[in-house]
Amino acid sequence: MTSRLPVIAHYIHGQAVASTSGRLQPVFNPATGAPIAEVALATQAEVNAAVAAAQAAAPAWADTAPLRRARVLFKFKELIEKYHDDLAAMITREHGKVFSDAKGEVVRGLEIVEFACGIPQLLKTQFTDNIGGGIDNWQLRQPLGVTAGITPFNFPVMVPLWMAPVAIACGNTFVLKPSERDPSPSLLLAELFKQAGLPDGVFNVVQGDKLAVDTLLHHPEVKAVSFVGSTPIADYIYTEGTRRKGGYPLRVQALGGAKNHLVVMPDADLDQAVDALLGAAYGSAGERCMAISVAVAVGQVADTLVKALVPRVKALKVKNGMDPDAEMGPLVTAAHKAKVESYIADGVAAGARLLVDGRDVKVPGHEQGFFLGGSLFDHVTPGMRIYQEEIFGPVLSVVRVPDLGAAIELINRHEFGNGVSIFTSDGHTAREFSRRIEVGMVGVNVPIPVPMAWHSFGGWKRSLFGDAHVYGEEGIRFYTRYKSIMQRWPESIAKGAEFTMPVAK
Ligand code: NAD
Repeated sequence: MTSRLPVIAHYIHGQAVASTSGRLQPVFNPATGAPIAEVALATQAEVNAAVAAAQAAAPAWADTAPLRRARVLFKFKELIEKYHDDLAAMITREHGKVFSDAKGEVVRGLEIVEFACGIPQLLKTQFTDNIGGGIDNWQLRQPLGVTAGITPFNFPVMVPLWMAPVAIACGNTFVLKPSERDPSPSLLLAELFKQAGLPDGVFNVVQGDKLAVDTLLHHPEVKAVSFVGSTPIADYIYTEGTRRKGGYPLRVQALGGAKNHLVVMPDADLDQAVDALLGAAYGSAGERCMAISVAVAVGQVADTLVKALVPRVKALKVKNGMDPDAEMGPLVTAAHKAKVESYIADGVAAGARLLVDGRDVKVPGHEQGFFLGGSLFDHVTPGMRIYQEEIFGPVLSVVRVPDLGAAIELINRHEFGNGVSIFTSDGHTAREFSRRIEVGMVGVNVPIPVPMAWHSFGGWKRSLFGDAHVYGEEGIRFYTRYKSIMQRWPESIAKGAEFTMPVAK
């Protein structure tokens, strides 16, 4: 029987490819709760076809001058700007986030494309003239070949753009396996790459689930995998990928989940801290890896902070993301909404004080949508599951601590170390905090310190598996192999064999 819903499938060797697998999964509009499409889940053969296309395109693309690669990326950048609203609307339709937030996501992805446009400069290396005996020494950064990216649902445009433009600028080819929950933007990105003049096979998309991921991980032609998603899967990808037997060892960077704290010091500007907490905890319904999910109230600030937060959380405008007035849209799926609700019930059972209950929120005209309002817990303690685990929803927990030392100790004990922030007006406090905290990305009076495109993004501890952070200079290093070359010419070569360790003369 043929499906009445459109089927979202693959993009291989410069064209959309229908699926033959017969394995389909519904894609929902979270604001209405209705299925709007089905995504095809690739077979091994379909993934192999994408890798074969990428492999075939790799030698010519690696030999293309970096400036010519950059010109394609410049065109790609212009096309993303042209289709900015289309990409954002697609994100809102399948993910649910507010349209203006989706537009912001596209801009943060675009910035990586702009960074990658500088590839001729970024690939420049060092040269030492005459290390001795007429020998010069320099280095190259060469592409790896076929690379792959596996991405999460919460940034269906930005996270693929954290990876693909950098990999491609470095001269690699790329296979993207996007999230099966919001797969459509990946195909528009593929189409825009093609329109920008990218040769067929350099960027490919396979939709799918674990089978597609495992096939990419074990394919001997795939040289590097970038993963972004939850910690259990990141751990799996890193462990499975780095122990691949035979052939070329797989390079893996796997970014995982988070539990981000925002410390409010007694000397902080309270209005600024409250505004920051509102946006960082409830923006995108808390479905951001850099969302703040714990407010650490230091000393006497706790009561005032909580009192200021309660009416603001109750007043959050929870609506269809296309409503220009919306501050928070729905959660991505019914299953995810149920999971967040179960965490709220768990917090109550564990004795945390639920000051605002987002489960009560109804959105008129969208009764079947996956909406939750903002929830606020006070008196959360480190032993509670709502403190320990990533909820990934609009739930903020307030933990009370006596001083800065206790705040740092609390945060450093947590298994995650993605982002953290401190609100204070004291420079010494900020400096001490930044130096002592065991977290990869730190904000001082900045609630969501996502590094800019030319710095690199990544957490510590169980928020990142592998050495390399994503994009920026670390991205260039991840997607290239370092080679050192020493060269001299016959006129400089002294007569006779040398049997001692060569040293500079
Ligand atoms: P997820 O781990 O469920 O899925 C991520 C990707 O892995 C998807 O493409 C999915 O198809 C694939 N996948 C799922 N189960 C798999 C399995 N068993 N084996 C192999 N592959 C599998 O994550 P999600 O729910 O899509 O995204 C939310 C998570 O991502 C949160 O934990 C969030 O913190 C994290 N995240 C982290 C960052 C970061 O930079 N650290 C950024 C965005 C999201």
